[in-house]
Amino acid sequence: MQSKDYEIIIGLEVHAQLATRSKMFCRCEVDVDAAPNTKVCPICLGLPGILPQTNDQAIKLGIRAALALGCSVNLESRWARKHYFSPDLPKGYQITQYEHPLATGGALELPGMDKKVRIRRLHLEEDAGKLVHSSRETLVDFNRCGVPLAEIVTEPDISSVEEADTYLKELRLVLRSLGVSDAEMERGHFRCEPNISVRPRGQEKLGVRSEIKNLNSFKAVREGIERAVKDQIEWLEQGEKIVQTTYLWDEKLRELKPMRAKETAADYRYFPEPDLPPLILAGSEIAEIKSTLPDLPAVKRKKLIEAGLSEQDAAVLVAEPEWEEYFKGLLVEASASIKEASTWLLNEARGIMAERKETLAEFKVPVKELASLIKLLRDGKLTRPAAKDLLAAMADKGRGAAELMEELDLGSVSDEGLLEETARKVIEENPDVVDRYHKGKTGVLGFLVGQCMKKLRGKADPNAVREILLKSLQESK
Ligand code: ADP
Ligand code: MG
Ligand code: ZN
Repeated sequence: MQSKDYEIIIGLEVHAQLATRSKMFCRCEVDVDAAPNTKVCPICLGLPGILPQTNDQAIKLGIRAALALGCSVNLESRWARKHYFSPDLPKGYQITQYEHPLATGGALELPGMDKKVRIRRLHLEEDAGKLVHSSRETLVDFNRCGVPLAEIVTEPDISSVEEADTYLKELRLVLRSLGVSDAEMERGHFRCEPNISVRPRGQEKLGVRSEIKNLNSFKAVREGIERAVKDQIEWLEQGEKIVQTTYLWDEKLRELKPMRAKETAADYRYFPEPDLPPLILAGSEIAEIKSTLPDLPAVKRKKLIEAGLSEQDAAVLVAEPEWEEYFKGLLVEASASIKEASTWLLNEARGIMAERKETLAEFKVPVKELASLIKLLRDGKLTRPAAKDLLAAMADKGRGAAELMEELDLGSVSDEGLLEETARKVIEENPDVVDRYHKGKTGVLGFLVGQCMKKLRGKADPNAVREILLKSLQESK
């Protein structure tokens, strides 16, 4: 059988760090970049006799995320201890939610894919510390112990690497746009654990899954999944039995390294956290949070598309708040239409930035100056090609539109006398064409406009030229 004879099935678990100032169960500041082991207290270190207390802000953020993902928030959820041994887990257990999570049963729509991924659950928990390896030794930093996380688990609904990638990007965007998490992947604030299985097409029973631990880049997720799929198909083809296993992704070797045979829930000896009461929420509290939710990215995109943007342009604006802001700035400063703003920002300026390998923050043309350029163009003071040249020069020199237009002599000829003279000359030089025009072949007008533009070195408003030509042709009859 070939790979196309197999169906790929993926479920994703994401750990997102909640954007709170203090930790989940104590008042230590969340600052994982601080000097090692300076943001710790007896509670997050798990010393004897401690009493954890929940962080209200973390709970609110968890509820926000859950509502945005269409989950039902449970009026009662519970805390549990999940036990395992690791040098970065000083308590010997993690406080999490197990049988009674904060929220269940949501879905996230994948943009441009006509597909919904169901969300099984969203629960709150605390992070573990960090091991810091050097060639000689391994040190442990407990600053991250107790940092609040939301874990978001999907149903096994994802059926390709592209869908997994799209799901993660959309989820990250939702969390960022809600202020729930900054979801910076390279800092480990948004980590993904894909679960992957394959099954021969037509088979109903799910295949045995491989789980990959803690990936923190889109690239690692894509490559890790691709590798797991390839390995699994190979094993099945060779008639090997797949054993449920947890892997680590080796970025350099591009290989999955078995970490452990999959532990079962029983291995964790989950039991109710005796130091924390159940988390009881009032319906009114949840409704209140719901009323503060901003438009979700999907809604924002829809509105922009309805206003006339392409799907792709809408996606750019919604994915990048600073692009959205710049765009809105153009609408205001230049009273630009959606079309004008998208042409000049998303096509022209974006193209220049790509060429110069600049981000919008590095781009030397402020909103105000791009707005001036749009106005100059609209008023016929610039031709389109000249406007493009001007923008490139502005991006290069970081100078204003009007000033640079003068200096580079890019402005259009608006002197009526000169335009009339040019039209007269072109009429004189092309008697045959003019004759054809008078005989009803009005299509040749374009050619005559072109000749005028050539004489004017492209620096005239073609509409103005056309009008003057029409007038002169009338007179030359
Ligand atoms: P655990 O917490 O032990 O990892 P869960 O049952 O919570 O296990 O499932 C974790 C993730 O694995 C979920 O996203 C789920 O959709 C996915 N999953 C479960 N079974 C399979 C399977 N056979 N193939 C692919 N994904 C699966
Ligand atoms: Mg898992
Ligand atoms: Zn603490």
